[in-house]
Amino acid sequence: MKILKASKIFQHGKFIENHVILIYRDVIEDVIPCSELGYLTQISEVVDFGECSIIPGFIDTHTHMIGYGLDQHMNLSNFESFEEVKEYISETIKKHKAEVYIFTNFDESKWKRKTIPSKDDLDKISKKPIFLRRICGHIGVGNSSFIDLLGKTNQINPGKCDLMNGIFWEDIPLNIHSLFPPSREVLEDAFLEAQDTFIKNGITTIHEIGSTNNFRFFQHMMRHKKLKIRVRYYISNGVPEYFDKIGLESGFGNSFLKLQGLKFFADGSVGGESALFSFPYGIKKGQGLWLLPENALTIYKRASETNLQVATHSIGNLAIKRVLDIIESTKDYDLFRIEHFEFPDAEDVERASKMEVKISIQPNFALNWGTKGGMYQSKLGDFYINNNPLRILKDKGIKFAFGSDAMPPSPLYGIQAATEHPIPEYSLDLSEAIVRYTEWGSAFTNECNFLGKIEPGLAADFTVLEPGLKSVKATIIGGEIFEYG
Ligand SMILES: [Zn+2]
Repeated sequence: MKILKASKIFQHGKFIENHVILIYRDVIEDVIPCSELGYLTQISEVVDFGECSIIPGFIDTHTHMIGYGLDQHMNLSNFESFEEVKEYISETIKKHKAEVYIFTNFDESKWKRKTIPSKDDLDKISKKPIFLRRICGHIGVGNSSFIDLLGKTNQINPGKCDLMNGIFWEDIPLNIHSLFPPSREVLEDAFLEAQDTFIKNGITTIHEIGSTNNFRFFQHMMRHKKLKIRVRYYISNGVPEYFDKIGLESGFGNSFLKLQGLKFFADGSVGGESALFSFPYGIKKGQGLWLLPENALTIYKRASETNLQVATHSIGNLAIKRVLDIIESTKDYDLFRIEHFEFPDAEDVERASKMEVKISIQPNFALNWGTKGGMYQSKLGDFYINNNPLRILKDKGIKFAFGSDAMPPSPLYGIQAATEHPIPEYSLDLSEAIVRYTEWGSAFTNECNFLGKIEPGLAADFTVLEPGLKSVKATIIGGEIFEYG
């Protein structure tokens, strides 16, 4: 038995004092007043977090841990000149073996020479295939060997590249990690680094969205006892038939790794002017894109018949409306979730509330782009003030939980965004924000009796916050303590 002591414990939506948590192995035994401890202190190990507070472990309901790890792995965002970048690239090539060297997140606007490097610049570094993706993800540059290699895959679209200078935009940079899947070695480095960062930020469970390949990789990590964070996995653009054939349903797996469902895109992003709105916007003056396949309703019905959860990315008001239409037609609202839900029309908030659709919101988006003078305003004009109306969603009884989308993977930053929303009347109070990042997440995977609360019988997953609640002191997953600072 272990006794966890701290100044405050977050239980039933509020902080209580003068209590301790008893855990046995990976489960919460009890929460009792300090005065009742008695002889227990003699037969148990006491872990005293002093003035800190213990809350349930954060559940990040929408993220891409592997993608985040790969982006960090050969990350160019911290370099201040192309000279430094060149040096880092040559060093990396000497250290690692790879078919293609993919570097991400360069930002030439921070360099002295404010131009995107060219094919010739990269040719001078190495004859090995090199590709650099810009921080926005939509533009990249490759050297001659990279272009030769890409030519063999028949993926070059002359409309979306400038081969003279080795510049590519959209498809190639966006899909670079699937076009040239990283080796197991690179994937493992990226995974371990990212997992560390997520746990350091207090995250104990993630709803991870990614490829079948990465799902396989998670299983590999679990077998090798390297999976420390709980993962509920959603396959991007998955096919319900595959699951049907072998009788797989949502929630199959163990307490650390479960297959949870499928994920689709209904529209794109506001930044890329591909989120679908009911009006023209941005520089292109288009309405955005509708990305669900023609037979979406058939796919969704099939998923519902086979008890497979489906998550749909929808950001613009028109995308949200159309996705709700589709879910309404399946008559199985409980099995569906909507991701982002950033600009819902008032009538669709009502509808989503009645249908009790689960909604994963990224409060950090409001702080990243939804501020006055921010990117949303520059693209959408005054309409930006409709972004992420958290308070309204709460008051209307929407079932929503928080996720980070790994931008950045920090629930505390998300909680700050929710409590200090750029549009003050949309703000939530602190307790409400914590509950959305913990308890509500467990409801999305039907695990209310296992995760998200500090109650006897539930998993011993906690986030320990420093006084002031602005940073993480320790993260506890299944009783295992990861301590920081
Ligand atoms: Zn995402």
